[in-house]
This record gives sequence, structure tokens and C-alpha cells, in this order.
Amino acid sequence: MERFPSAAALIAHHKPDRPVLAARPHAAGRAARWFLERFPGEVAYAYKANSSVFLLGALFGAGIRQFDVASLPELEDAATIPGVELHFMHPVKSRTAIRRAYHEFGVKCFALDTEDELAKIVEETGGARDLQLFVRVAVPAKNSRIPLERKFGISGQKAARLLVATRQVADELGITFHVGSQTTTPDAFVMALEEVHKLIVKAGVVVDAIDIGGGFPSRYTDSEPAPLISFIEAVRAGFDRLPVSEACRLVCEPGRALVAEAESLIVRVDARRGDELYINDGGYGALFDSAHLGFVFPVRLVGREPDAGERMAPFAMWGPTCDSIDYMKGPFLLPASVREGDYIEIGNIGAYGRALAGHFNGYGRYDEVILLDEPMYTMYGDARERVAQNA
Ligand SMILES: *Cc1c(COP(=O)(O)O)cnc(C)c1O
Repeated sequence: MERFPSAAALIAHHKPDRPVLAARPHAAGRAARWFLERFPGEVAYAYKANSSVFLLGALFGAGIRQFDVASLPELEDAATIPGVELHFMHPVKSRTAIRRAYHEFGVKCFALDTEDELAKIVEETGGARDLQLFVRVAVPAKNSRIPLERKFGISGQKAARLLVATRQVADELGITFHVGSQTTTPDAFVMALEEVHKLIVKAGVVVDAIDIGGGFPSRYTDSEPAPLISFIEAVRAGFDRLPVSEACRLVCEPGRALVAEAESLIVRVDARRGDELYINDGGYGALFDSAHLGFVFPVRLVGREPDAGERMAPFAMWGPTCDSIDYMKGPFLLPASVREGDYIEIGNIGAYGRALAGHFNGYGRYDEVILLDEPMYTMYGDARERVAQNA
């Protein structure tokens, strides 16, 4: 893997034909250390956000030993990392996936949100007595870019009944939720923990673990979240009030917050038409969230200096496929002179960027490099203020 001091240094060295995924493992390591030092519990990584070996290596190197997987293929991949503990936190799993997870990969930790799923887990593990079972409860989405509450989660009397039923077969009974991805204010966690509180009282069960899921935010040009420490404080306060024993474990499983700023995408402009740029990656590639959810990632021109005194101008971008939904509205602010042959660094695509890229039209193949400079935006430490010049 080639290393460069910056995206500009890469372009000075050679002019890549393919789009480039540029990892900053040091940024993933910094994020992991931040969570491990400040979160008042255990930190698992949600594997689906980005499974680049360079970022996984950085997370592991920083001390992350728990990985949250959502499918059998993810489990098979993650199980190749020695010495990690895997949690299977998708509430709907195939029988094969449960069976192989337990018997072949030694997974003990599963999420569920129905009695049917509980029965599947009991049957496919052969009535195992060493399971950690987490009931996924539905919580309100508040200030979340990607709400998840309609798809999964149980609530009210049904949830209380499921907790009682799960208590009877679980070695360790847990409650889990997900406030929605890119949640920008901590009140979502406050409300979720209040729901959990009511539910524990209603069910009258002993709860051994609380897993508050992911949802911690990153920074984007159109999203300036509350400081991460305010999320940690909200979780600590809500957890401390729960009717659980001293010994109750607290777990979080961030995906986005650990890797978002640890990868950039470097694209080339293949055509310019007015204020629209045709680039060599897009909505079928690492820019899915920009095309379909309107994320505005930070951008900067790399490989040449803008003209002296040049103004910045807003651009939209088209991806390389022949489909008209392959369109990123932006606005992306770039020097007004941007033209065919220029390279652009698109920052903070580490979460759900490479993970969502497909192969439509033969695209979806990337060069890969490691960059040693700072991410364009960061949520962590002193570098928080050092933002992209064009922000
Ligand atoms: C996707 C997911 C996560 C990670 O979510 P982020 O918003 O990326 O932090 C954590 N837990 C579960 C169960 C998930 O499905």
C-alpha cells in the first residue's frame, strides 16, 4: 500500500485513472482511542460501516476487541481477525446464520425483537444455556439523518413480554436500541434511555446489559453535530438512573463515528457543463449517501493551485454511469475555474462509502492509498478546528 503525505502529493506523483479510496488509519485509531477513553462502558465497532483492513487494523491497534456484525458473510470475514469477540446484532437472522454463528464461530451474543426470533435462536443453538440475548426495542428517532425505528424494535406490553420470555432462556439478558444513524443531538439517547427505564420497570426483570447501539455523528458540510462528549454525558446520566445493578454492563457499537473521517475519495473531473461536473465515481459507488440522502461531503481541489484571487462557486456532480439518478446535488463549493482533468478530494466518506459501492456499468473499482495528513473535518481533539480551507 502506497503512502502519501496528502492527496495533493498523490496527484503530483501520478494521475490515477480510477477513483482512489484514500484511508487515514491514524484518524480511525484516534476515534477509537477517544471512545475507549471516554465511553463509560465497552466499545464495539459496527463492522458494516467500513471493513477496509487498514481501518480494521487501526481500530484493533487502538484496542477495539468487539465487533458487531449484521450478516453471515460479515461474520465469516470478521472471524478471521484473531482474538475478537463477535456480536450478531441484526434482529432478523436466517436459521443457517444462527446455527453457524453459534456452533462454528462461537458467537454467544444475538439481538432479537420477536418471540419467533427467540424460538429460532433457541432451536438453532440446541437450547444453549450460555447465550447473551439482547432485545431490540423501538425508540423515537430525533435529529437523525437515517432513522431506523420503523424497521426494527419492539415496544410497550409486547416488549415487556418478550423480555420476560428471553430472561428464561438467556444466560445474560440485554436491551439494545439504535437511535438512527448520524444523530446530531444527544437528546435522542436521553429519550431512548427513558424508554428503556420504563420498560425495565414494566417487565420487572433483571437486566444484565444495555447496548445503546450506534448513531454517533460525524461532520459533514451540511451537518454540524453537537460535540461528541455531550453524547457520552447524556448516555452516562441516563444509564446511571436505570433500575439495574452495579454489575450491569454498558456497551456501545458505533460505526460511523469511528471511521467516517478516516477515508476520502479522490475523483477526476471528466467533463464540465456549466456548474455541473461529471466525475469518475458517484451514487453507485462510494457517494451513495450523497446521491440518495443528500449528504454534502467536504470537497477540495487537489493537484493544482486555484488561480490567484479566484472565487469559490457551487457545483453539482454527476457520477460516471448512464443513469440519471447518479447525481449529487451538493452544493459542492470549489474554485470557479475547476475543469476537465482536475482532481477533487471528497472527504469524510469513510462511513458507508466503500461499503455501499457496487459495480454497475463496470465501475466500482478503486485504487487505494494511505494518506498521512489530517481528515478534512474531524470530531476529535485539537484537530477539530482545523477544517477544510473551503468550509
Ligand atoms: C448500523 C448499526 C450500527 C452502527 O450505526 P452507526 O450509525 O454507523 O453508528 C450499530 N448497531 C446496529 C445494530 C446497526 O445496525
